[in-house]
Amino acid sequence: GRYLGCNRAMEILTGKSEQELINLTPKDIYSEETAKFILDTDRDTLVSNTGVTAEQWIRYPNNKLSCFEIRKVPYYDRINQRHCIMGFGRDITERKRYQEVIEKNNRDKSTLMATISHELRTPLNGIIGLSRILLEGELTPQQRDYLKTINISAISLGHIFSDIIDLEKIDSRRIELFRSEVEFSQIISNISHFANLMAEQKKIRFHVQHDDDLPDFIYVDNARLSQILWNLVSNAVKFTPAGGNIYLTVARKDEDHFTFSIRDTGIGIQKSEQRKIFAMFYQSENSQGKKAQGSGIGLAISKRIAKLMGGDLTVESELNQGATFTLVIQAKTVAAKKSVTINTHALKVLLVEDIEVNIVVAKA
Ligand code: ADP
Repeated sequence: GRYLGCNRAMEILTGKSEQELINLTPKDIYSEETAKFILDTDRDTLVSNTGVTAEQWIRYPNNKLSCFEIRKVPYYDRINQRHCIMGFGRDITERKRYQEVIEKNNRDKSTLMATISHELRTPLNGIIGLSRILLEGELTPQQRDYLKTINISAISLGHIFSDIIDLEKIDSRRIELFRSEVEFSQIISNISHFANLMAEQKKIRFHVQHDDDLPDFIYVDNARLSQILWNLVSNAVKFTPAGGNIYLTVARKDEDHFTFSIRDTGIGIQKSEQRKIFAMFYQSENSQGKKAQGSGIGLAISKRIAKLMGGDLTVESELNQGATFTLVIQAKTVAAKKSVTINTHALKVLLVEDIEVNIVVAKA
């Protein structure tokens, strides 16, 4: 526990000459906290009898605080007797500070992205809502086509924003689920509406089938669930050539687990790539070394949300044989509700809303 010798840098750090230092203990030189850390790492080195690496902030006599990367190793003499511990410290303060600045910049950037994405949502909801209303009216076939494109483009934008917002939350582990009662048929019809429009544009056929024993209502975070399904459907469309097929199958796995599987007849995924596609920012390249269009975050985020929902997202595929993505979620079913008859003519609704476009959508 006593110093046997040191170099010049150590003399500067401790403010003592080597002669003064010899035979002192860390407690004689450093603050209590610093000394304790030094003694702890000494002990780790002795007990494990191997090299130990640690980072430690130490104050110079002139008060300058520096961060050291410290490596301690047991030192043996010629007849193989452990003689002492040898410690090396490298001043990494500058690197540390750069790292902090870079990390902060990164955080600021994601926060900004999330804020902007959030702000964009209101006008976007106006476009989604109003184009859907217009689609129910009388239109020429060409107008209908354009309007469908407007509608799914806006829905897609919304989901891309959701992915971006989640990116920031996943980094800081703040992702939360907001479960509420959702009608099962509504979930299926929403994703089918979107999938049909998407597929139709690329001359792909979309098919949906579901078990008969699905409950009427489940407790689920509907926005998150549709975010995952949207990611899967848009990938399926993206990676399936015209003339192909996409199948959505919804099934009850057990009392409170449900599976949504999306199968396509597209380009498929090589076995060696299958684990990688769930990593953040991963995009496989085609045979010409060109990356697919997209952000490479959809599957990574979807898998994390699926796990948060008490389930998982997995893939089965062969190259050129299409791909099947299976989403399992855990969701409680809502006890059967008594049906109430509502006289819609007598219904009065009070809407409190400060955003003009939302009022227009709600009224329509
Ligand atoms: P992106 O937004 O780039 O599509 P994803 O995380 O959704 O990012 O997907 C990552 C990669 O996984 C894609 O670039 C693609 O290589 C592969 N992939 C995803 N879905 C499919 C699919 N249905 N068929 C073939 N490859 C797919």
